[in-house]
Amino acid sequence: MQSGQLDNCIICGRLFLKDHTDSCLDCYREIEHNLNLVADFLEIDQNRYATIEEVSEFTNVSVKQIAEFLRDGLIFSEDYPNLGYRCAHCGKLIKRQLLCNECFTRFSTDVNRTLMQEKLLDEIRSK
Ligand SMILES: [Zn+2]
Ligand SMILES: [Zn+2]
Repeated sequence: MQSGQLDNCIICGRLFLKDHTDSCLDCYREIEHNLNLVADFLEIDQNRYATIEEVSEFTNVSVKQIAEFLRDGLIFSEDYPNLGYRCAHCGKLIKRQLLCNECFTRFSTDVNRTLMQEKLLDEIRSK
């Protein structure tokens, strides 16, 4: 029977026995604890309109971590009108993915354009 593999925890960098998670048990427990704090805070009716900064301030959980909860769908941001995180490019409030729609569209057209250019260059070269 094969036992787990040793790996570095993606959060604290310590070696741990890799099982089902990318982090060691301590960090995993910490994340779970933080998730509960955030979920408990949001469960209170008058906190429904809180922003991510406010949630972070009250729960002492970092904005980055709350954003991860939202992105991973552990917290359902659709239930909370003001809860979102910043687009990685322009900083607009978003609730899913890494980029807002505009940046995503622009980014994908840029990629398309680059691909088109490469294709054109290939065609020119092959002549
Ligand atoms: Zn760790
Ligand atoms: Zn954006």
